[in-house]
Amino acid sequence: MSDYDFDLFVIGAGSGGVRASRMAASFGARVAVAEELYLGGTCVNVGCVPKKLFAYAAHFAEDFADARGYGWDLADASFTWQRLLDNKNAEITRLNGIYHNLLTAAGVTMVHGRARLLDSHTVAVGDKTFTAERILIATGGWPFIPEFPGREHVISSNEVFYLDQLPKRCLVVGGGYIAIEFASIFHGLGCDTSLAYRGEQFLRGFDQGLRDHMVVTMQNKGLDLRFNADVARIDKQADGSLHVEFKDGESLDTDLVLYATGRRPKLDGLGLENTEVALDDKGFIKVDGDYQTTDSAIFAIGDVTNTLQLTPVALAEGMALARRLYRPEEYRPVDYADIATAVFCIPNIATLGLTEEQARANGHKLDIYESRFRPMRNTLAGNDEQSFMKLLVDQSTDRVLGIHMVGPDAGELIQGLAVALKAGATKAVFDATLGIHPTAAEEFVTMR
Ligand code: FAD
Ligand code: NDP
Repeated sequence: MSDYDFDLFVIGAGSGGVRASRMAASFGARVAVAEELYLGGTCVNVGCVPKKLFAYAAHFAEDFADARGYGWDLADASFTWQRLLDNKNAEITRLNGIYHNLLTAAGVTMVHGRARLLDSHTVAVGDKTFTAERILIATGGWPFIPEFPGREHVISSNEVFYLDQLPKRCLVVGGGYIAIEFASIFHGLGCDTSLAYRGEQFLRGFDQGLRDHMVVTMQNKGLDLRFNADVARIDKQADGSLHVEFKDGESLDTDLVLYATGRRPKLDGLGLENTEVALDDKGFIKVDGDYQTTDSAIFAIGDVTNTLQLTPVALAEGMALARRLYRPEEYRPVDYADIATAVFCIPNIATLGLTEEQARANGHKLDIYESRFRPMRNTLAGNDEQSFMKLLVDQSTDRVLGIHMVGPDAGELIQGLAVALKAGATKAVFDATLGIHPTAAEEFVTMR
């Protein structure tokens, strides 16, 4: 038994921190976790979970419209924002309770409040101090909003989950995951929605064919997409609306502006200056391949490090670190290759492996299989929206290098293919696989 209060003190009970705490405690370590805001962190409270619930809510608008072609007549549908909010909040409270029970059952000591490092083995939370042999920083990220006149009038993803009312008009600024998802959500819920992105085309880093398809899809739905649109200033009008001026002289009047311009590691007030922990050139906590910071007693995982900002990544890192420290014989570093992700816009985007641009830059000679088709469900619905699928195959090895899709439930569908890619599937294996008919998914094994 060491002289410290705990073997491991975890700062942040989000995706990574909770997983690391639970696993370390289950391996016999004496563990405490400090959390200042909410159990479950960003994902459960202001991220993946409420976002997906909102996306489900937004989808009903199209479902109601599509239903007519299938013989259904619905009375004019109406939407009550407050009911969605109340039900969402109840679900989040339920999940918070589950996290509490999981930590309690694992024997983890929970400490409520903001943690501050006093030295490499000591943490202060409020007026209490705790010592630990090792400390894990899992404090996640926080929305970044650039400086400009009128910044005080905009909200971030933290606030969007608690709006008093749904705006009639809204502008989403950004071109990444959150911007695309929330533009879809606001549009689906009936807001007159604009999206402004500073570059030529949103979703930088995604496959170009997928990006092109998504632009057309969103425009066909009636979203106002503005590219090369950089906000110069925002002024609040006497009636409470917002006047947005862009640097190119264009302007827009709206009721709400959501900034989704990336996230930064959450480090404020953490007391890193009292330790040997160093930051990398982008401001993330610097770690080696085993989550060790430059301070021998301190580790870091998840969004506070320069890793993929995804919940499954933080979970996997939490698990890996607990094993590394307390079950080294079972330790395997996280495999970051070919991680599938989805953007939960309407319809979904899902992407796996290399983009065409990355594959070519890596010197691969490619066979490319693409399919654009109207999903069967859209036929009777009289809905012209098309799905997009793309498979990238290395000519010399026949290995499938990348899989990209825009279409209903693409996230559900690509998850299974991620297993195939991990297993090193070749195009011949895809070809030898019989489809499930009639599905959209079968297209991936029938593309020739
Ligand atoms: P977090 O989950 O952010 O947890 C960090 C915790 O530390 C927080 O609870 C915070 O309050 C606490 N904390 C910080 N500082 C202190 C301190 N000094 N003392 C005590 N506590 C502290 N990922 C997906 O995979 N799929 C999705 O669909 C998805 N959707 C998202 C939607 C949105 C709007 C956002 C913002 C993110 C989304 N993400 C999604 C990303 C995902 O939420 C993060 O990658 C994940 O939560 C990172 O986990 P983490 O443990 O590193 O940090
Ligand atoms: P992203 O990094 O995905 O996108 C940020 C966007 O903001 C980019 O389009 C970027 O443009 C733009 N931007 C950055 N700085 C500025 C600026 N100063 N002015 C104008 N535009 C700017 O971040 P998000 O905030 O969308 O999400 C954060 C992360 O959370 C994601 O990267 C993802 O890892 C995770 N997440 C995952 C989800 C999922 O799995 N479904 C859902 C939501 C979030 P440019 O491309 O030109 O740099």
